[in-house]
Amino acid sequence: MASVEIKEISKIFADHNAVNDVNLTVNDGEFLVLLGPSGCGKSTLLRMIAGLELPTYGDIFIGDRRATRLQPKDRNIAMVFQNYALYPHMTVYENIAFPLRVRGVEKRTIDPKVQWAAELVGLTRMLKRKPRQMSGGERQRIALARSLVRDPDVFLLDEPLSNLDAKLRHSAREELRQFQDRVGVTSIYVTHDQVEAMGLGDRIVVMEAGKIRQIGTPEEIYQHPADTFVATFMGSPPMNLVETEGMTLGFRPENFLPAENYANGADITPIVFNTHRVEYLGGDRLLYGHVKGNLPETPVIARIPSSVSYTPNPGSEAKFAVASADLRWFDKATGKAIEPNKQTEIRRVAHV
Ligand code: ATP
Repeated sequence: MASVEIKEISKIFADHNAVNDVNLTVNDGEFLVLLGPSGCGKSTLLRMIAGLELPTYGDIFIGDRRATRLQPKDRNIAMVFQNYALYPHMTVYENIAFPLRVRGVEKRTIDPKVQWAAELVGLTRMLKRKPRQMSGGERQRIALARSLVRDPDVFLLDEPLSNLDAKLRHSAREELRQFQDRVGVTSIYVTHDQVEAMGLGDRIVVMEAGKIRQIGTPEEIYQHPADTFVATFMGSPPMNLVETEGMTLGFRPENFLPAENYANGADITPIVFNTHRVEYLGGDRLLYGHVKGNLPETPVIARIPSSVSYTPNPGSEAKFAVASADLRWFDKATGKAIEPNKQTEIRRVAHV
């Protein structure tokens, strides 16, 4: 196992700056997720760590070794891609053993390693099968076991779950996380799926246009987004943003409830809401509408648990509220979050 340190890394393709001056430390044993929209540079960053791309500027350290210019095979990393590239004519056992066989490792050393890796990923009883006789999730486990037999210092995973269906994706995510907890190998995982990022990551790195917007635990990023980009990228539906006179005000749909739902005396900020349309999602209902009155008229969404009895009256104004502690403020010009200790003061003067 090893930590990974990325120092002032940039990658410029022709005139396109795909990764722009990124600094990042991945702790030993950590599960770190690189998250961002398509084209933000997350795969390029991962490929530089793997040694598949050479950085234009900057340095990469794996453990205490400078790895910037090392060949991929000399970095002791294992990479699992979206396409697992299993050999269809080989059994599960042979697929897992393959990286050791090509290195000329002796048979009697290979066997216990394959058994150990298969046991870890729960494939012991399927070693004689061929990949085509396995489900998508099981194939993913073969790919994991195959990378594991090499005792990598770091796992690099590039959207490995993206070709699984929704249900399988959920269970494969859980398995992957349990597996990482067991083996404790430093892992860097690329995805554009924020639910996956929240579920898997010890910490998440949110990227946009080649730059890091925020690094933090899933909770920090969700509760205290560093700017309006992160606030609207994380969360589905995203955080509501309303431009008030001085600042941008943000509140999450699930924190925007009918005022009667709050206890007497709770510190809440009342907001007038007008519902246009209701979407029933099972556990929750989404109320699409707009705020008005004490705030500039702006489209927003409320997410109300179905257990809350509330019948919206489309076209008429209703009293809604956000617990004052759940309001977030952003600088209107830069989009950056105002520091939490300053937010209380702002609430007092903003008259919302
Ligand atoms: P996705 O989620 O779509 O895979 P990503 O965040 O992983 O996106 P990258 O693949 O890292 O994005 O690409 C970042 C940017 O660099 C994109 O604009 C892409 O078009 C560009 N890019 C990537 N590889 C090359 C290349 N070999 N030559 C030129 N431009 C490239």
